[in-house]
Amino acid sequence: NKQVIFRDYVVGFPKESDFIITSVTIRLKLPQGSNGVLLKTLYLSCDPFMRMLMDSQPSAFSYFPGSLLFGYGVGKVLESAHSDFNEGDLVWGMLKWEEYSVVEDPANFIKIHHTDVPLSYYTGILGMPGITAYFGFHDICSPKKGEYVFVSAASGAVGQLVGQLAKLMGCYVVGSAGSKEKIELLKNKFGFDEVFNYKEEHDLNAALKRCFPEGIDIYFENVGGKTLDAVLLNMRPHGRIAVCGMISQYNLNQSEGVHNLMHLVLQRIRMEGFSAPDYFHLNANFLEAMLPYIREGKISYVEDTVHGLESGPAALIGLFSGRNIGKQVVAISTE
Ligand code: NDP
Repeated sequence: NKQVIFRDYVVGFPKESDFIITSVTIRLKLPQGSNGVLLKTLYLSCDPFMRMLMDSQPSAFSYFPGSLLFGYGVGKVLESAHSDFNEGDLVWGMLKWEEYSVVEDPANFIKIHHTDVPLSYYTGILGMPGITAYFGFHDICSPKKGEYVFVSAASGAVGQLVGQLAKLMGCYVVGSAGSKEKIELLKNKFGFDEVFNYKEEHDLNAALKRCFPEGIDIYFENVGGKTLDAVLLNMRPHGRIAVCGMISQYNLNQSEGVHNLMHLVLQRIRMEGFSAPDYFHLNANFLEAMLPYIREGKISYVEDTVHGLESGPAALIGLFSGRNIGKQVVAISTE
């Protein structure tokens, strides 16, 4: 059973050497007296929040040095002693980074019933990032047709969806990303109206003024820092900022200051953070909305897949240099 161990707390950017790949021999059987499930890992998800669990400040969810890494993933039940699960069930939820797991408390797993779409989608468009994009946009941003929407980290797991959902609402959508290839995807595959490569703009305020001469109604915040500061200067009255994440800050010892917060007052802007698990209980409504979009080709989804647990650490840390193009998935097994 191949596993990925978290070596020690991380300061600054995580490195491959912060993780150890090991292999242990196990019996593919639930232990005697278990009330849980034996799970085969199919796909693991690389998500930016995992960096926050690597910090040394103690939190209920932190990774502990020497323990197994965990994160969202898709698995298949090989054996079950739990009344809610049967052999063969497909689930997504928090999985350990190993090929096979005994999960004593599977109650938080979400069962997968729709398999006419790729199973890996339950790490992305139909999983936690999808729920983030869908409810973050519709619930927190209260979008209206014709509004001006800006999305940062726009080609990623969450951003590519927010942009397409905003287009389906009839909004004008601009996205920023960090490479030529990503910019082309935004424009040609996801249908963003306007795009810019933030790494090539020496003045983000000017770039936003160019793309939004009349200002921004909705900002879907994925990156924080200088981008947020520039956005604040360009918000329209009664604009909304959904604070999904601030990836530019996760590897800093101290967060950068934001200077233009007074614009929240001047423009009567609502800025609100949210967390995907708050919406997991609405999964059925979410699937009802999202599955037809996928089946009818109204939304497309780009994944970046690496294969095998040994490729996982590099893929995970690649999120922080923008190596991933689309949703970063680690495929462990296809059946
Ligand atoms: P992505 O798939 O977008 O991957 C991360 C991307 O962030 C990279 O590809 C890179 O793209 C960009 N990035 C990395 N470093 C920086 C930087 N210093 N400045 C600007 N951009 C950077 O990740 P997700 O879509 O999964 O996550 C996007 C955001 O949403 C994150 O902030 C994450 O924490 C947050 N999130 C929040 C959730 C919630 O419940 N609130 C749930 C899920 C995600 P590029 O090449 O364009 O720079």
